[in-house]
Amino acid sequence: LLEVKNLTKYFPVKGMKGPGVQAVENVSLFINKGETLGLVGESGCGKTTLGRTILRLHEPTSGQIIYDGKTIYQHEYPFDAQTVMEKDSEGQEHSRTVLVKKNVAKAKEVDMFPLRRKMQIIFQDPAASLDPRMTVGDIIGEAIDIHHLADSKAARTARIKELLGRVGLNTEHANRFPHEFSGGQQQRVGIARALAVEPEFIVCDEPISALDVSIQSQVVNMLEDMQAELGLTYLFIAHDISVVRHISNRIGVMYLGSLVELAESYELNKNPLHPYTQTLLSAVPVPDPEVSRTRQRIVLEGDIPSPMNPPTGCRFHTRCPYATDRCREETPAFLEHEPGHWAACHLLDK
Ligand code: SF4
Repeated sequence: LLEVKNLTKYFPVKGMKGPGVQAVENVSLFINKGETLGLVGESGCGKTTLGRTILRLHEPTSGQIIYDGKTIYQHEYPFDAQTVMEKDSEGQEHSRTVLVKKNVAKAKEVDMFPLRRKMQIIFQDPAASLDPRMTVGDIIGEAIDIHHLADSKAARTARIKELLGRVGLNTEHANRFPHEFSGGQQQRVGIARALAVEPEFIVCDEPISALDVSIQSQVVNMLEDMQAELGLTYLFIAHDISVVRHISNRIGVMYLGSLVELAESYELNKNPLHPYTQTLLSAVPVPDPEVSRTRQRIVLEGDIPSPMNPPTGCRFHTRCPYATDRCREETPAFLEHEPGHWAACHLLDK
């Protein structure tokens, strides 16, 4: 249903030379119709930016997005690496690599309006994503109005009631305002709004992170039921790998803007190839005290580097226990090492 090739998103920073915040770097992936692709990684790794860039809520910097066979964005390689010499405060000369914008083919622009119906998003913070001055009925009704999906007031009201019922809310909730609801109920409203336009593909951007643990499983179960009933396709973003492996058919792991591993959910858990994925999995609590006692926990040193100045070569090298000189200089390619199992690490070179 969706294919992304070498997708890159930089946020320029005023007064700063170079590309700015390098939030997403060269990500390639595909999502099959009806499946859930989970995306995990620690905060600030670019998962949300990737989800929003796929929907073109952020304009991509370069790469290609193909939805249902139609290219909805294409802009190849807008930057060229150049070496410049600079003097430091003591007059010493140093070389520095800067990225210079190249004059290449214009970005392919398509009218996103019809696609907005097919491609929706559920936001992380339900309270912030609902207009506090609108009733819940109008929040859902606005989506129906924009896409002209009801030909009468009665049909609109009936559709709002049906959507509220589908997400487990009462029909009389339509006249209430978002602040009158709990976090879990607000997220249900956000889901009803996404469903109002009959989408095919939904980016679930950390939909349960802001909710109580007791509510999280209800929302996850509801998303699974809706997928089975309506044939939806999800990109499910979360930082908790145990939730992602429960809901996802395949899982992608991101680190500092790059996709470092992608595989079937079962395969990734059984046979993680990338050192960062191994670290994430080793941090998942195991309920069995016997297993927990004997299991080796990998603890990373240091903090995640700044995406404004990411490390050269492999972006993980500053924290990787297996890093070599090659890792510091050469970016590992994202390769298929086993059928359906991709990873980017020099250790895996045959
Ligand atoms: Fe670690 Fe090197 Fe592999 Fe990167 S390429 S994950 S630094 S071993």
